[in-house]
Amino acid sequence: MSMVFCRGCGKDIHDSAVTCPHCGAPQTSSHSPSKMHWMSIVALILAVLAFLACLDVDQYDKDQLVGTAILGIAGAIFAGLSLQQKKPGKNLAVVALTFSVLSLLVLLGTVS
Ligand SMILES: [Zn+2]
Repeated sequence: MSMVFCRGCGKDIHDSAVTCPHCGAPQTSSHSPSKMHWMSIVALILAVLAFLACLDVDQYDKDQLVGTAILGIAGAIFAGLSLQQKKPGKNLAVVALTFSVLSLLVLLGTVS
């Protein structure tokens, strides 16, 4: 569902509404924040998975190392995209980016 709260009266309205049907308040930037939240949450999930995977990294074979690196890189990409938009979810994206970078550093330290 894509419902948002009116910026004027606080009632549920559809996120594509240009003005609120209840009070008429303009809803100028109501359509993208939910997308950005989605992106930073995905980034956080990928980054935390990569970080958790790194805890066992000493016992990994090459394929598992590559898989963990892909998780970390994907997390960093999503976090970077989310940060670029400067929308709600920025704090999540910063945390995600931190976990991703930590994971990739651990991986680099393991393979070198
Ligand atoms: Zn309203």
